[in-house]
Amino acid sequence: MGEQLTGDYAESVAAQVEQAMDEAAAICFVVDVQSRVLPADEDVAARLRQAAQPVYLVANKADNDAMAAAAADFYAFGLGEPHVVSAQHGRGVGDLLDFLVEGLPTAALLQSAVDCNLAIVGRPNVGKSSLVNAILREERMIVSTTPGTTRDAVDTAVDFGDRRLVLVDTAGIRRRGRVERGTERASVNRAQAAVARADVVAIVLDGGRDVAAQDQHILGRALDAYKGVILVVNKADLLRGDAELQDRRRRQLRWRAHFVPWAPVVWTSALRGEHLDELLQTVLNVADVRRRRVPTSQLNALLIRATAAHPPATFRGRPIKFFYATQAAIEPPTFVFFVNYPEAVHFSYQRYLQRRIREEFGFLGAALRLHFRPRNDGHG
Ligand code: GDP
Repeated sequence: MGEQLTGDYAESVAAQVEQAMDEAAAICFVVDVQSRVLPADEDVAARLRQAAQPVYLVANKADNDAMAAAAADFYAFGLGEPHVVSAQHGRGVGDLLDFLVEGLPTAALLQSAVDCNLAIVGRPNVGKSSLVNAILREERMIVSTTPGTTRDAVDTAVDFGDRRLVLVDTAGIRRRGRVERGTERASVNRAQAAVARADVVAIVLDGGRDVAAQDQHILGRALDAYKGVILVVNKADLLRGDAELQDRRRRQLRWRAHFVPWAPVVWTSALRGEHLDELLQTVLNVADVRRRRVPTSQLNALLIRATAAHPPATFRGRPIKFFYATQAAIEPPTFVFFVNYPEAVHFSYQRYLQRRIREEFGFLGAALRLHFRPRNDGHG
């Protein structure tokens, strides 16, 4: 393949490079010491210098010392020292493998405690792919792995301080709008699948554009799945110095996202690599909050106060009576209320109870699940 100079060659290599940069944990760029450097190789090298993952330059066909010396030409690629090998003679191959294995985390490492699975979703062009790339450039990327469900749903683990996050389906985020252009449904389904596997969903908005109904729909889907939710206003660089526009975005957010006053908002610039740490820290905080468990005694003390301050409406002339509440589950935090007429607890009263729980116990960024059940111990 390296002999040709045709556009096909350049295109096929460019596609390989894109795929590797989307999906690989590390990249080997193999060049031929016996042939001259092609312009297409220089293009590849330029592209790989932008890669988030480690890139190893492998100078192959160094069958003897003279040929090995020729590998020095490849320093010019700016990809570090060439690893000189002869695949045919086996020369240098073992060393290269040792080197690669050392740089690669083991599968076991990835499987060790993951603090949060994060799905990054949003309309096309809001900067999802730019955010992922910026995060992978700045934080320590551990490994990419294929979880086996969808063959091409590649997740990427990132270490942030002593915590570990997995970015769900990074391949999908980076590819959407390129390969999947025109197949809106496919990309929506793919985003849905990512949300389903996530603990926290970052809904990315374009700071340069008005918050739209479509953003609201995406948010709604994350809520329906009772995930942690954070709102990310990306391209915040476009708002800098424009207090009026910033204020406009804030008002739009309050309006469009009025049903999630508890969702944290982070203003990022993927372009400038700004506030990415804040983003990841906020994501981890939300993931932690989703694991919080409120002691039953505290919850019931709150229930007594809340119902006393604001008694529920009556049902067919009879009082609605709350007996008891308990947090039945975490991730999502799930609260069960035992009540004489469960189906009569009005939506607005459910919201009131949820608001009181939040005021008392926090749960910033976590969607809460409330169930209302009849008391079934025979005394109700
Ligand atoms: P995606 O479709 O959501 O993955 O969006 P992309 O990451 O492909 O970005 C869409 C466009 O927005 C590209 O032209 C990016 O360069 C640009 N973009 C992304 N992030 C930022 C940002 O923080 N600031 C600015 N000004 N532009 C950005």
